[in-house]
Amino acid sequence: MFAETQLENATTQELEDLRNRIESELTRQALASREPQESRQVVEERSASAGTLHLERMKCGKTRCKKCKEGEGHGPYWHLYYRRSGKLTSRYIGKRIPDELKG
Ligand SMILES: [Zn+2]
Repeated sequence: MFAETQLENATTQELEDLRNRIESELTRQALASREPQESRQVVEERSASAGTLHLERMKCGKTRCKKCKEGEGHGPYWHLYYRRSGKLTSRYIGKRIPDELKG
């Protein structure tokens, strides 16, 4: 896909951008191929640098929880999905996406 000289001549910034784009795509593919999760409902999806942002509603699994009982669940809250050592992982972000995660 890329000639060796293209990589050798690229700046650090260009290589980091390329790596982020590859990680972002690998994360997207990993998310697309995993089992759907019943306790989480994806409301919105956005690409982030080196990952994917999901806005999700969640079921906490507590039998007495009123919010979950009524079907509404918790959130929606943003989660960042990314890969660590080749494994898909996620991090809780909150109601708003911080600027450094946009893009
Ligand atoms: Zn709940």
